Amino acid sequence: MHQPDAVLPDLHDLVAENEALRARIGHVMEQAQRNHDIMCRHQAFDLEIVGAANFPQLVGTIFRLLPVVSDLDSVTLSLVDTDADIYTVMHKLGVDFETLPDLLFCEHAVELGFDAGERPRPRLGAYDRALHGAMFPQPAPGLRSVALVPLMRNQRLIGSLNLGSNDSERFTPALGTDFVEHMASIIAICLENVISNEMLKYIGLTDPLTGIYNRRYIDRRLVEEIARAWRQDYQIAFMFIDVDHFKQVNDKVGHQAGDDVLREVAARIKMELRVSDALARFGGEEFVVLLINADLQAAARVADRIRAGMADKPFDLAGGQYLNVSVSIGVAALGACARGHAVEAVAQQLVAAADGALYRAKEAGRNRVVTAG
Ligand code: GH3
Ligand code: MG
Ligand code: MG
Repeated sequence: MHQPDAVLPDLHDLVAENEALRARIGHVMEQAQRNHDIMCRHQAFDLEIVGAANFPQLVGTIFRLLPVVSDLDSVTLSLVDTDADIYTVMHKLGVDFETLPDLLFCEHAVELGFDAGERPRPRLGAYDRALHGAMFPQPAPGLRSVALVPLMRNQRLIGSLNLGSNDSERFTPALGTDFVEHMASIIAICLENVISNEMLKYIGLTDPLTGIYNRRYIDRRLVEEIARAWRQDYQIAFMFIDVDHFKQVNDKVGHQAGDDVLREVAARIKMELRVSDALARFGGEEFVVLLINADLQAAARVADRIRAGMADKPFDLAGGQYLNVSVSIGVAALGACARGHAVEAVAQQLVAAADGALYRAKEAGRNRVVTAG
């Protein structure tokens, strides 16, 4: 029997086809391995951000890892921060925004430029300085394409994740957005979590009437600062400030105006302090100040400025009423307390020493400063 040539495959063709197939399989395998690596990197990234303990750690991790994990040249984050609540609280909790230049805040969600509606879409396309300059204040040189991805929580736009690449083909309007949206949804959850945790922390450490720290904060801070002062060998001092005859103030002007007086007392104390010092309302009409890098004499000078700042200028109350208010202050410095004892016990000693000095200031006639020791 004779077989036509065309039906019998040529051996060479088979070998070539086999090689082409092997090459294709090799290529697919490589691609699969690459995808697997990308997925692993993203999973590691997700774990890292889910585990962030606080706001600076979360934001820092995003800026540090996302460019590496997703091969990006610029990553910034815009947060909607009406009334600057987030900024203020983070600042008070000690976040140094200078170290986070890619963290941006805007007052209103509309400023982010997404479509209004329940599900705003990511905006992908060529980088245009006029359009995207606000989102990338310090873009990588050569930025060519960007993806601005809405961060949503409970149908609310809380910010925008801004991704930039030097590859003009990386983000085009035609590209699918499932992946970036998934990433943004995890980031949005993490952000909301750490922000509410930090807010709770802040509420737990501040006094709602005056906005300054509360006793819990100062108790904690004092222990930390004593340990640090010992390690780094500098002085700290502690001050107890009590408003004189505050009961009479309330009786005279009423409880509401009394509250205004307490707010003003806090503000006047603060004016005399350095940013490194800590002011807290210890309770009622009592305030405490922790002075860093100050010995007893230096602290006594600050205390006298505080005292004079009250007594020398009447308080201007609502309704055109003026009121003379004075304070008594007790001051103590760490120097007097024995080094090497338990820090908590030394903190108590320091507070007690300042309290004792305050008592003597009251006894001596009020509107005065007394130092311990
Ligand atoms: P002294 O000079 O001996 O310190 O006299 P004082 O009247 O200031 O001291 P005392 O401790 O007898 O009274 C403190 C007053 O502070 C009594 C209390 O009603 C008032 N007070 C405590 N907390 C607040 C507050 O949050 N708001 C107002 N308006 N008054 C407060
Ligand atoms: Mg008192
Ligand atoms: Mg008092």
